[in-house]
Amino acid sequence: MTLPYHTEPRTWDVLVAGGGTAGAIAGIAAARAGARVLVVEAQGSLGGTGTNAWVTPLMRNVSAGRNLNRGLTDELKARLHARGDGATDPGGNDNWFNPEGMKFVLEEMLLESGGEVLYHTHVVQPLVEVGRITALVVHNKGGLQALHAGVFIDSTGDADVAVGADVPFHAGDEEGIHQAMSLRFTLAGVDTGRLCAFLNAHGQGQTGPSFLHFWMVWGKKSTLEPLFREAVDSGVLLERDGDYFQGFSVPGRPGEISFNCPRIRADLNDGADPWHLSAAQTDGRAAIDRLTAFCRRYLKGCESAYIGTVAPMVGVRETRRIVGEYTLTLEDILDCRRFEDSICRNHYPVDIHSVKAGAHLLHEREGKAPYFAPDAYHEIPYRSIVPQGITNLLVPGRSASSTFEAQSAIRVQQNCHTMGEAAGIAAAWSAREHGGRVRCVDVAALQAEMRRLGGNV
Ligand SMILES: Cc1cc2nc3c(=O)[nH]c(=O)nc-3n(C[C@H](O)[C@H](O)[C@H](O)COP(=O)(O)OP(=O)(O)OC[C@H]3O[C@@H](n4cnc5c(N)ncnc54)[C@H](O)[C@@H]3O)c2cc1C
Repeated sequence: MTLPYHTEPRTWDVLVAGGGTAGAIAGIAAARAGARVLVVEAQGSLGGTGTNAWVTPLMRNVSAGRNLNRGLTDELKARLHARGDGATDPGGNDNWFNPEGMKFVLEEMLLESGGEVLYHTHVVQPLVEVGRITALVVHNKGGLQALHAGVFIDSTGDADVAVGADVPFHAGDEEGIHQAMSLRFTLAGVDTGRLCAFLNAHGQGQTGPSFLHFWMVWGKKSTLEPLFREAVDSGVLLERDGDYFQGFSVPGRPGEISFNCPRIRADLNDGADPWHLSAAQTDGRAAIDRLTAFCRRYLKGCESAYIGTVAPMVGVRETRRIVGEYTLTLEDILDCRRFEDSICRNHYPVDIHSVKAGAHLLHEREGKAPYFAPDAYHEIPYRSIVPQGITNLLVPGRSASSTFEAQSAIRVQQNCHTMGEAAGIAAAWSAREHGGRVRCVDVAALQAEMRRLGGNV
């Protein structure tokens, strides 16, 4: 059955599917490179997992004391800090941000650059003619429409466009099991002065009430573990609520603590399965109620706290990964492999939030590889964002071509920015000079352009 759609008469050089962490930056980069750009986004704001799943901070990605992701990431941070929505913690990490502020900054940068955005619109299906995408059929309040462009960027995080165009892909580990999902939330109305004193008295070593960070994971020697045990014994928490608990301050939001939890039930781990995703929402909300009750009862300063935000999007760490012209592997990471067509450098370790009981984080087990030297890094090649079988599509972000283990290292936000920036420039050039063929891009010239724009490739 083919459903009727109407064709939007305007066309674009570059159409970005998904205005998230990689996609918003890709749209900005493509627009600044002179392309007519449309970003199509399912939610009502840009930033994706970083904003709508409330994932802060940008994870540190530092080698030899220097941040590896520069270019548009630097501009983003500078703008966030300038409006009071970015902050540097006492340890010198300048990657903290307010997700609501990030939405404003990304939108400003896209519109100022001449890009357009279409919110509340879901990409349904690419239209493909002999290995080339001609349009994306989208759904929104106008019904089904076909949006035509010369080059497409799939930054949906789930490779929705690539999969719809029959690009081969992998999903999950060797058994098809994915990393845990989380539904993040905040507590507002916290007396941070009293909470700080309480945390210090309980061995959580805070520098002051303006920046708090505390955590508990069963068996990891957290000083908060006895409180969690008591809460489980008294029925306030479930055992699994202590599998991962972490809270921290948010710039520009005094009196509010953001939580990198709860973890969603282990059997609900596929963020590309609509039933898992929906059940994750209800499972997460129930856990948020328990964690709120725990904080009110056991953490001084939280007695009158209330739920400030439940992230509009479930936090999804990994779903589908395309098979591209090159698949990045664990060995590439541990051996610090460099590539002639590098578009991004990474030092963030393999970091698997496994749902399998007793599984260890790989970066702890592999701690002696050269990769763990403080000045080490590996590179991500352009070929990892070029999917097999389609001429005019790029796939930056968490669904780039990588093994399950490698994905867990490269997925952090600053790498998604840098992959997005490379994809945006490459897409603009492909549209203008190569009839949309992304394999024709002169990658040495792309690297030179990224460096000219402050990048580090
Ligand atoms: C719980 C959790 C904690 C994490 N912690 C950190 C951390 O502390 N620091 C860090 O740097 N990284 C962290 N990460 C990883 C990082 O946040 C993500 O890997 C990264 O943001 C993914 O970026 P992306 O651009 O690939 O996807 P996203 O940012 O998710 O963007 C995808 C976008 O596409 C849109 N979309 C999806 N499908 C469609 C469709 N069909 N049509 C239209 N739009 C669509 C979505 O709405 C979204 O805006 C964490 C991730 C999770 C889930």
